[in-house]
Amino acid sequence: METGGNSLPSGPDGVKRKVFYFYDPEVGNYYYGQGHPMKPHRIRMTHALLAHYGLLQHMHVVKPVLARDRDLCRFHADDYVAFLRSITPETQQDQLRQLKRFNVGEDCPVFDGLYSFCQTYAGGSVGGAVKLNHGSCDIAINWAGGLHHAKKCEASGFCYVNDIVLAILELLKVHERVLYVDIDIHHGDGVEEAFYTTDRVMTVSFHKFGDYFPGTGDVRDIGYGKGKYYSLNVPLDDGIDDESYQSLFKPIMGKVMEVFKPGAVVLQCGADSLSGDRLGCFNLSIKGHAECVRYMRSFNVPLLLLGGGGYTIRNVARCWCYETGVALGADLDDKMPQHEYYEYFGPDYTLHVAPSNMENKNSRQLLDDIRVKLLDNLSKLQHAPSVQFQERPPDIELPEADEDQEDEDERWDRDTDMDVDDDRKHLPGRVKREYLEPKDTEDLKVECAREMDMPFMETACSNASHPGAMSSVDESSQKKLEQENINKPSDPPYEMNS
Ligand SMILES: [Zn+2]
Repeated sequence: METGGNSLPSGPDGVKRKVFYFYDPEVGNYYYGQGHPMKPHRIRMTHALLAHYGLLQHMHVVKPVLARDRDLCRFHADDYVAFLRSITPETQQDQLRQLKRFNVGEDCPVFDGLYSFCQTYAGGSVGGAVKLNHGSCDIAINWAGGLHHAKKCEASGFCYVNDIVLAILELLKVHERVLYVDIDIHHGDGVEEAFYTTDRVMTVSFHKFGDYFPGTGDVRDIGYGKGKYYSLNVPLDDGIDDESYQSLFKPIMGKVMEVFKPGAVVLQCGADSLSGDRLGCFNLSIKGHAECVRYMRSFNVPLLLLGGGGYTIRNVARCWCYETGVALGADLDDKMPQHEYYEYFGPDYTLHVAPSNMENKNSRQLLDDIRVKLLDNLSKLQHAPSVQFQERPPDIELPEADEDQEDEDERWDRDTDMDVDDDRKHLPGRVKREYLEPKDTEDLKVECAREMDMPFMETACSNASHPGAMSSVDESSQKKLEQENINKPSDPPYEMNS
């Protein structure tokens, strides 16, 4: 498999990158409920692997600052954020109308600490964007982030707040153009929708399409208004393997980098596209999945790596550990080191697992047609007269923070927050967003107000039926339950999709 792709200048050594890794030791304790496939414990398992592979010492390990209400409200509606802050398993029975309105209860259950969970994973992604904006690192990683389905005023597909949209808004303060790439098996609908009518963010999603959650992501959905040709969708079918996947990923992303020239890249690394995922139906190996990271890294553009889906959690941990190694330029031994979750990885106790022999339903013809169609769309973008690529303004230069302080008290520059115009709350289907672009430390702000027509944006809150009674469990029994669930080879069939 080719690994090339440097169409932009290499870094000084061509291999190593400075990496910031965001991790909150509490994140593994959040628990969606018994039988729910989304398990934050996988983030803790990933962290344990990173520690025992000796990777933590090669990164700046940062505990994220919790995102505040106002940080979340840069994208989300005030009343939705207030609801997330106030709802608890004990009070939810009195809030049935609100639960339905915000699509909380089934796929997206109310659980203990829900709001601090949202603050934690959003804080990591926005914190990563801030570090990249300051030029403090080449790559920032937040495996707890990547919750791409959340909408402005609605939870969806196990996602409550959209940390990706918030991180991209942060990057847009410094970068004229930001690229979003999504390799989760599900369409990155929440992020696409947020930026569907702007030419400052290009979204590219590779996903299973056809009778599959969330149902969007048709190849013909290309963006709207100023954003026309700035949304790319790559619809795929069951059983896609490494070679087929890369036969699309590299030509398409190579062309995107050439014509869009982003100042920063956000890569959502959802691991439910791996072979053997509990909810997924693709057949990628970990190396095939990580090849996307390797390829995007090769362009030497500030890179934010985020998590996402991934429901066979031993493979999620394997994947994100390996991809952290790719970010660092480190080779990892296939033989796994002993660590506290070692028993999850039997019987082979290896980092890599072989893909299956399942049928690849993506014919060569189908793949060729998709590639031709998307490259054609990109050529229209290249020649569109309205498209003017400019040099991006210089990054804000701040003195390097004292590393000893970073772990516990990492703060981002709150004062340069972008505000979302209040009009959007009162005008269904119309969003007016102001981009404030700090040009230097003097807080010089260039206003670049944009009117965005989003007739398709206002989605009615979907019909969530009443939540089942949820018993609250303490942390230690949660963890035990968690492990019991994981160790059961046959979990009860889970009907929800994400
Ligand atoms: Zn997914």
